[in-house]
Amino acid sequence: MDKENTQSLLRELPSVDRLLNTAMAVDMMLAYGRSLTVESLRASLDAARSSILSGKASYAPMNAVLVDDARLWLESYLAPTLQPVINGTGVIVHTNLGRAPLSAAARTAIEDAAKGYSTLEYDLPSGQRGSRTVHAEQLLTRLTEAEAALVVNNNAAAVLLMLTALCQGKEVIISRGQLVEIGGGFRIPDVMAQSGAKLVEVGTTNRTHLRDYANAITENTAAILVAHHSNYKIIGFSSEPTLAELAELAHEHNLPLLYDQGSGALLDSSPFGLEPEPTVLDGLSAGADMVAFSGDKLLGGPQAGILVGRQELIARLKKHPLARAVRVDKLCLAGLSATLTHYLTENAIEEIPVWRMIARPLTEIGSEADTWAARLQERGIRAEVVDGRSTVGGGSLPGTSLPSRVVAITVADPDQFASQLRQEKVPVIGRIQDGRFLIDPRTILPEQVEILLQSLVHCALA
Ligand SMILES: *Cc1c(COP(=O)(O)O)cnc(C)c1O
Repeated sequence: MDKENTQSLLRELPSVDRLLNTAMAVDMMLAYGRSLTVESLRASLDAARSSILSGKASYAPMNAVLVDDARLWLESYLAPTLQPVINGTGVIVHTNLGRAPLSAAARTAIEDAAKGYSTLEYDLPSGQRGSRTVHAEQLLTRLTEAEAALVVNNNAAAVLLMLTALCQGKEVIISRGQLVEIGGGFRIPDVMAQSGAKLVEVGTTNRTHLRDYANAITENTAAILVAHHSNYKIIGFSSEPTLAELAELAHEHNLPLLYDQGSGALLDSSPFGLEPEPTVLDGLSAGADMVAFSGDKLLGGPQAGILVGRQELIARLKKHPLARAVRVDKLCLAGLSATLTHYLTENAIEEIPVWRMIARPLTEIGSEADTWAARLQERGIRAEVVDGRSTVGGGSLPGTSLPSRVVAITVADPDQFASQLRQEKVPVIGRIQDGRFLIDPRTILPEQVEILLQSLVHCALA
């Protein structure tokens, strides 16, 4: 195209002001505000200008097209980066995908707390200021029979607060086999350093004896700490004293036994074919003086760090200035309280998604997978149902998994298929194994099934 022609096309492009007067742009200003609308129109005009200059466009776009491009630009500019996805990985507590999905009651409680005012720090009978910490704590002490409880914003904060308030400037004894790193950069030695407590490592990586602990106790010892291995397992020639043995030793020396239990399991996982995970109650009944755990792993609630234990110790934590910095918000307290209520009313397995997924019978998963595979085959897609394994994830129950039946899809390019699925309106996350794309029904929520199947068809036939 000659230079003159290019110049004349450029001259045909309207001004931003002209476009702002179109009916569509007026609507955009109402929806998105003037400043972003102007910016989007500029972006649209810039794009049109470059395409004329590069010779790609042989005519100037109509105003309606320019404004429509601006609208698309704005929509993608404002699209939330935190968006819902479909988890087809079979990893139940998937830290990268937001850990525990919440029960219907927990979601309602969060909405109720969000939309108006609440008794967060208000005592209705007296009309006086109340305490934010009472809400979930009553439920926690009823459930665990601990003397007292405290909720903070995650378990890393719970452990930090526990060590800072009880052990700063003193020694804490821990087994070398427990100097663990949990996902997301939570390392026991680093948390210990941050708290100002001095780490006293005893034993070896694979074996620590009760006498190792006993020999390390001095007048500077503040506590014995046990950290649940959570995400790894030492197999073979390994041993550690039990919690009960350590509690007895600690108490003989007037020391507290602190236990970072991690997962927040309140129910026994062994009836569902998983290895037994020590529960919060196991920790307390073995004699731990304080137990710390997460709200959004096996407890199945919102992100939170929970501490239960002796009244006198919890009181010291509540008074510490750090408690204010790690305090929990009202939405979390609302969701956590509703989640804990499921355990009290004995419907946790039916109502809490994490437990419903763990408890889901293999036959039910199998027949769901069969239905989905048949629907895909009808559309000419190569799908079959094969044996698979689901895992609990979230750094709990390492090395154990649940048998599952998964849909295996054969496509020419599985990596490209996976990438297309991640670009769907509700992105689908799955696994690739032996050149096939796998979807595990265990972690698919019932309301996601139709949209999942539509996306699989859409991307497989694309
Ligand atoms: C997960 C875990 C943590 C960290 O908990 P967050 O709630 O993720 O902060 C700490 N300790 C143990 C043993 C854990 O399993």
